[in-house]
Amino acid sequence: MASDDLPVAILGAGWAGLVAASELRARGYPVMVLEASPSIGGLAQSVKDDEGFSFDVGAHFITNRLAGMLGLGAECRTVRHYGEAVWFAGGAHGYPYGLVKNVRFSLSAVRSRIAGLLSREEASSARDEFVGRYGVALTDRVAGPLLEAWSGTAAERLAPAVVNKIPTSLLKTAWLRVAGRLSRRAVAIGYCRELPESASVWHVYPESGLGRLVARIAENVEDSIRLSSPVEAIIVEGERAVAVRVRGEDVAVRAVFTSLPINVLPKLVLGSSRIDDLAEFRFRPMVFVNMKFVGRRLLPEVVLWTPEPGFAFFRLTEATRSMPWLAPEGKTVITADLGCEVGDDVWTMSDDDLTAKVLADLEEVVPEARERFLGSRVMRTKLAYPVFDSSYEARRQELAADFPIAGIVPIGRNGEFDHLLMEDVYWRTVRSVDRFVRSG
Ligand SMILES: Cc1cc2nc3c(=O)[nH]c(=O)nc-3n(C[C@H](O)[C@H](O)[C@H](O)COP(=O)(O)OP(=O)(O)OC[C@H]3O[C@@H](n4cnc5c(N)ncnc54)[C@H](O)[C@@H]3O)c2cc1C
Repeated sequence: MASDDLPVAILGAGWAGLVAASELRARGYPVMVLEASPSIGGLAQSVKDDEGFSFDVGAHFITNRLAGMLGLGAECRTVRHYGEAVWFAGGAHGYPYGLVKNVRFSLSAVRSRIAGLLSREEASSARDEFVGRYGVALTDRVAGPLLEAWSGTAAERLAPAVVNKIPTSLLKTAWLRVAGRLSRRAVAIGYCRELPESASVWHVYPESGLGRLVARIAENVEDSIRLSSPVEAIIVEGERAVAVRVRGEDVAVRAVFTSLPINVLPKLVLGSSRIDDLAEFRFRPMVFVNMKFVGRRLLPEVVLWTPEPGFAFFRLTEATRSMPWLAPEGKTVITADLGCEVGDDVWTMSDDDLTAKVLADLEEVVPEARERFLGSRVMRTKLAYPVFDSSYEARRQELAADFPIAGIVPIGRNGEFDHLLMEDVYWRTVRSVDRFVRSG
């Protein structure tokens, strides 16, 4: 078969893989989507339990802009409110204005800004970058501890790039907040980097859950998806991908789009040692303890960050404050995020013990947590967040510009090794397909 007639293999039938497959097919390429698990969706799936509580596996909500582009606008509910707060010194402080009002934080931020104007030195770590923007006081009390709990790595060892994930302009944030209040919609802030933010881009949630998005795009390539088909190897000859091995069989391919975690590629790639060093890239595992309660609005905000070391978790989310439909009337769910490493005490703790530990700490914020508690559902993931460790930051940036093996195109959150949300994954994957088509 001429190489032009061979299919493009797409590894993974999550959001990125299905977007790539759909875009390639639209441009006339035969595609073959290989998915290890028995279902599509990856991190974009929602499950509903027998009592009517919904839980999202990864993604929580999307924007009206993305839903509209997929023709799903009418199937989505508008999210009316979104807000964040930080809990310290025994109380909640709204983000960002509650922090700005803190005189110690503000003075320290002003001092850092002035020092930054006088010095030309570039920040060499995430800690330096935070200090330069927000001052030492806020970094030491809030941002640093959160970053460390989230990534499992000291802020001094993380690359400054990690801080760029946070929206910087207070003025713009203020305007988008006001627009959200006036329109009674949760205007998306700091959510998409590929397209501009504006008052006309707000959060929505598909009526039947996040999986609806993936199911919609899968309709375009349904006949090419092979479930329960883990890819065992990518075969490279002359530094070009020529085949994939699936269920012991080698299948010749024109190219490989991979949404698999970038650090597993060295093990999968046979015939090249150019990417052996990618095995050291790390993802932060997480345990999510979803707790069901009687009542609503138990947390002071949708998301509550808890940087103080006494808490087992670093973030609490009461999604029903944004999306009341996720729990039956008069009931709610609070999710606690616990950073961990595979095999450590948190990872191996029984679900009951984890829940008991989280409930005990939660009582500082929700004093009647135990009396209201109805049950919990614990989820563990090995691949929650890519860790931007300084030791491999230069290599990460190099890969973003050019992948060293021809015919392998990394896509998606784990493939690109970046903190990407679904709208960004969509546009970046479309761009990767465009580049592939242009390169012939
Ligand atoms: C906690 C959390 C919250 C988030 N919240 C939001 C949010 O609110 N809004 C938003 O827009 N985004 C959110 N995101 C991001 C969003 O979930 C991701 O951007 C998106 O789902 C990533 O899709 P993906 O296809 O890149 O990866 P994945 O969904 O991980 O898909 C990869 C697929 O590859 C398969 N696979 C793995 N190994 C193999 C193999 N060897 N062979 C074949 N297949 C294999 C996996 O089974 C999986 O199906 C969140 C992410 C996390 C972790």
